[in-house]
Amino acid sequence: MSSKLIFESGSEGQSGCHLPDIDVPEKTINDLIPQKYLRNNAARLPEVSEPEVVRHFVNLSALNHHVDKSFYPLGSCTMKYNPKINEETQGLKGFSALHPHQLEETTQGAMQLLYEMAEYLCEISGLSAVTLQPSAGAHGELTGLMIIRAYHDFKGTRRKFVLIPDSAHGTNPASVTISGYEPVKIRSNEAGLVDLEDVKSKLNEDTAAFMLTNPNTLGIFETQTAELAKMIHDAGALLYMDGANLNALLGLVRPGDLGFDVVHFNLHKTFSTPHGGGGPGSGPVGVSALLKDFLPIPCVKKENDIYSLLCDNKNTIGKVSSFYGNFGIIVRAYTYIRMLGGKGLREVSKGALINANYLLSLLKEHYELPYKKTPMHEFVLSGNRQKEYGVKTLDIAKRMLDYGVHAPTVYFPLIVSEALMIEPTETESKASLEDFANIMIKIAGEAEKNPELLKEAPVTTPVARLNEALAARNLNVRFNFQD
Ligand SMILES: *Cc1c(COP(=O)(O)O)cnc(C)c1O
Repeated sequence: MSSKLIFESGSEGQSGCHLPDIDVPEKTINDLIPQKYLRNNAARLPEVSEPEVVRHFVNLSALNHHVDKSFYPLGSCTMKYNPKINEETQGLKGFSALHPHQLEETTQGAMQLLYEMAEYLCEISGLSAVTLQPSAGAHGELTGLMIIRAYHDFKGTRRKFVLIPDSAHGTNPASVTISGYEPVKIRSNEAGLVDLEDVKSKLNEDTAAFMLTNPNTLGIFETQTAELAKMIHDAGALLYMDGANLNALLGLVRPGDLGFDVVHFNLHKTFSTPHGGGGPGSGPVGVSALLKDFLPIPCVKKENDIYSLLCDNKNTIGKVSSFYGNFGIIVRAYTYIRMLGGKGLREVSKGALINANYLLSLLKEHYELPYKKTPMHEFVLSGNRQKEYGVKTLDIAKRMLDYGVHAPTVYFPLIVSEALMIEPTETESKASLEDFANIMIKIAGEAEKNPELLKEAPVTTPVARLNEALAARNLNVRFNFQD
């Protein structure tokens, strides 16, 4: 049955324009769904016009803070830039309308993109092979550790421990535990680097791997990787790099050259894919030649310019994700890499280093800097000095919201008391760095002269300070429908 949209007679007008025919499906939903599952009354949906809906969401988006609105200095979270062109490329029909079970002849373009993306990540990291399957940094960690486990199993040596510095991100020990190993904490020295003496005393034939973040979470480059790699490899263990901070190294340093065997990448931290609100992420894992055969399947293979999913990883750990990973995210990251090229990527890292160090130079008179070594892409201050006036780092963070900027990452890394971890990234202008520095300097002054003001903050935001402990303990997520 097909019906034609009919207006009053003569609605086609003198011009001869025709409204297109509209096909109405023969069976309606009511015929297909058993009666007992159908509503008796219409849903109480708000009756609103399109402009009202648009205004509603635009206003909601303005209540929240986001990268499209103002400065966002969260350390360890990196990406502040989501190029709009990424959305265009990932929306191309050939990418967005694909079905994962489509015949390979019809998905050559998508497979070429996956293949080249893995190649680029190999080139950037100096490693031999990459899987694009994992869906987050933490998922990459687990995948990397499963590969390490499979490697030791293959060699017939079941090992027990993974060494992790005390400055590491919490996902490191969590991934180690989930993968069936036990985490062992390694001290950082006064310079903020891995304490090699502590490594020596804890490294033995039961050590499966060492997990190092480089630059570490203080933003400091770990300079002893050659020695560390030798120690770890001599003990028959493997060296894992948490690559969350890779945006400091692009085109400057390759983890593979430093002796790392496994590295995870966070596409949402280094390659401009959206970060926040919990995802979606992508955490590809790269490995050295030694571990190539253990990578997950499927992966894309190229033979005579034809792409297929038939790769022959003899000792594969299997699948770690549905299909081929977070494809739309990989398209975005690929766009970013192609847009910048090798030289452009190097400029990204240089810009990130310069911006972080410039911002630090503006702030270090006003806040304590616990580790003095020149940082790379981010730096960690302490609110200890302000604490003397009874102000906590949390109060400083809340006060920043009153000035229209997002707070930095606070209370991480754990080895810095009252930590403020700041990462501006390369996309910020000199003026916006200076504006932010002025806000932080002003707040330092307020902490001294009017500490009560900070404890009340924020006062200009749509929502005042929340009782976070109470909210976490008595979580009550509810949709309030207003009549
Ligand atoms: C963000 C981060 C992780 C975890 O990555 P996700 O993509 O958030 O799972 C691990 N290590 C470091 C150092 C990080 O900054």
